Amino acid sequence: MSFKKVGRIYIQDKPFEGILRSAYECLNVECMGFLFGKSIADKNFVIQQVHPIQLARRTACSSQPLSGVRAGWSFMHDYLGSMHSHVPSRCQIDKVQDYIRAYADISPSDKADFLEDENSIELILALNFVRVRRKLINSPYKIAGYIKPENRTYRFELIGYYKDPRIRRAQLEISDRARSFIS
Ligand SMILES: [Zn+2]
Repeated sequence: MSFKKVGRIYIQDKPFEGILRSAYECLNVECMGFLFGKSIADKNFVIQQVHPIQLARRTACSSQPLSGVRAGWSFMHDYLGSMHSHVPSRCQIDKVQDYIRAYADISPSDKADFLEDENSIELILALNFVRVRRKLINSPYKIAGYIKPENRTYRFELIGYYKDPRIRRAQLEISDRARSFIS
């Protein structure tokens, strides 16, 4: 019998909050950050720290760190990989400004970068402003939720990827406490 263990990423409360905060701070341009923590078993990771990249040139679909990879050094925690956000794109339809929703699915260029770099994991977060809250559909491979900064409601989805050696989605876990803030 062949048994394939799936990859799992547990995100502790503080880095989870940090990921949401940095995506909201950048909002309409891409945020990027480095993830630190430890590998507890084969393909099993715990994220204990996130460092949002401060010096970067950002656009809606890319962010270029201006300090190279200087922020990626292992200190109290091991370097695990990086995170970035996908933001809605604006488009003009019949003279009306419209938005195309952002998704956390990995793009072809994300895949190429991830396969090339040393990162063990990659988190992608998509943040969308919404007027209507819909029922959240939970999956082991995606964390979806709402944040409500400054009385505006944003829906986000977060997906984690690892290499096996192909790129696969990891099961994502957060605490019940973290989940209570995003439902
Ligand atoms: Zn991307």
